[in-house]
Amino acid sequence: MNAAHQQQHRKRIPIRTCVVCRTKEGKRALFRIVRTEDGVQVDPTGKMNGRGAYLCGDPDCWERAAATDILSKALRTTLTADDRARLRQARPSP
Ligand SMILES: [Zn+2]
Repeated sequence: MNAAHQQQHRKRIPIRTCVVCRTKEGKRALFRIVRTEDGVQVDPTGKMNGRGAYLCGDPDCWERAAATDILSKALRTTLTADDRARLRQARPSP
C-alpha cells in the first residue's frame, strides 16, 4: 500500500458553516448553538436535541450573534435578553 492510496482513505469530517461569517469548518472547529425549551444554549457536546446552528471561534461572530437577528433567524426563534447574555458569556476569547 503506497502513500497516495492511504490518503484516499482519510475520514470525512462533516463540514458546517458559521451562521455569521459563513466560514466553513469541520464540525469540531465550530461551536454548536441549540434552541431548547430553556432558551438558546451553547451545546458543548454537539448532541443536545433541538434545532442547531454553528458559530466559529471568532469573538466578533459571537458578538454579532448576540446583537443581531442572524442567529435567531437561523434557529427560527427569538433571542431573549437571557439568551443574548448567555452568548456573550460563552464567547470565546480571541
Ligand atoms: Zn464566524
